[in-house]
Amino acid sequence: MNMENGAMMQYFEWNLPNDGNLWKQIKADSKHLHDIGVTAVWIPPAYKADEQQDEGYATYDLFDLGEFEQKGTVRTKYGTKKELTEMVKELHKYQISVYLDTVLNHKTGADFTEKFMAQEVDPQDRNHMLTEPYEIQGWTGYNFPGRKDAYSDFKWHYYHFSGTEMDDAQRKTGIYRILGENKYWSENVDSENGNYDFLLGNDIDLKHPEVIKELNKWGIWVAKELGLNGIRMDAIKHMDAQFIKQFLEALRAELGEDYYAVGEYWNGDLDTLDSYLDSVGNKLNLFDVPLHYNMFGASQSGKEFDMQKILDNALAVNRPTLAVTFVDNHDSQRGSSLESQIEDWFKPLAYGLILLMKDGYPCIFYGDYYGISGKKSPHRLIIEILLDARKKYAYGDMDMYFDHPSTVGFVRKGDEEHPNSGLAFLMSNGEAGNKVMNIGEEHKGEVWYEITGNIKDEVTIDEKGNGNFTVSARNLAVWIKKA
Ligand code: CA
Repeated sequence: MNMENGAMMQYFEWNLPNDGNLWKQIKADSKHLHDIGVTAVWIPPAYKADEQQDEGYATYDLFDLGEFEQKGTVRTKYGTKKELTEMVKELHKYQISVYLDTVLNHKTGADFTEKFMAQEVDPQDRNHMLTEPYEIQGWTGYNFPGRKDAYSDFKWHYYHFSGTEMDDAQRKTGIYRILGENKYWSENVDSENGNYDFLLGNDIDLKHPEVIKELNKWGIWVAKELGLNGIRMDAIKHMDAQFIKQFLEALRAELGEDYYAVGEYWNGDLDTLDSYLDSVGNKLNLFDVPLHYNMFGASQSGKEFDMQKILDNALAVNRPTLAVTFVDNHDSQRGSSLESQIEDWFKPLAYGLILLMKDGYPCIFYGDYYGISGKKSPHRLIIEILLDARKKYAYGDMDMYFDHPSTVGFVRKGDEEHPNSGLAFLMSNGEAGNKVMNIGEEHKGEVWYEITGNIKDEVTIDEKGNGNFTVSARNLAVWIKKA
């Protein structure tokens, strides 16, 4: 599908009602999404979780896309498989790609308990055993009685997992490392807490040959079953990197090299993301968490933040073709597990930056466009203006003017394939400011104006291609050629 200046939308937030309506809502919204310039939609986990109201991350059965009576419900929080399928078809009608949120780190909601040998570990250092090996009773058995072997007859047992979170015999919660031949936490995971393989529930052993075979099979099945264009991989810092690499290779061998993947590696350290990308052969994009934290810090510090540093250590600058830039998501939004929500006053500046800069694949958060908990977002209009500017004007080389602590910006010089393209972007976290920026001699004599409505003046480009552009206090400005 057409990716030129594409923009992804994360079409959910944490507090959506459990009304089974999301798939229908997205279907009805397809044309509108296309009209505003959205070219891909990231949808939440679409398979059966341990209870109907779950957001989908407490995965129970990957093969139940809201089709079978399991966990007391046919539909998921978001709807039925039929509605899901119809939604994908409608999005494709408008050339919008669909990326499914894919949770392969863990499973929850087992059907029965099993007895096996385990050792409890220290949650702060998972390489430190708190007990000798002993037999525990864990909720690790899955036979999916409601699905009755449809699509797959694979049954999950304790030996397909590397850890679990409860000993039912003693009704005691903790982190239990499951013992077995050649079984240990994966070495190819984040090193936080000694070893961050275990996140929650039953941690899937991604080195187990039967597991690898089954998950690869599912990845191909779900892509074909729904007609997906790619995936968003959840919690990859807790997953064996070699598994991720082979998983994407297996999928693309079957689905084509352009099957898209972006991973959630929640770490603000550029070097960690950089070496991770190398370890998986650069086979997927990563969310630009360092840039998110820069913008979060800037939004909290007001004019004290040095705007020249806003792109420091951003993945978009260092690995431009592998970065998915974003402002907030369902985990960073207020009240969620990785809370770091960017303050409202800064959101227009943040969206201006990610939607108009040359590098990175921008992702718009549902909560920022539609709102959180049913409360309307104040940012909808500015996001629409910026998406439109991205589609029409954000082309050509980028020259950066990050030369002042408050007022920074860049120009996009335009290109021949997009008539009248090119723009000048400024933002200030302090006083109103101005900056002379060069957009190229070929633009001399043109009159430019500001499209967000913040500035009423016009600017005439001089003989050398310079314009003296302005921005109001704590705001952004986007200048384009007057038609
Ligand atoms: Ca894991």
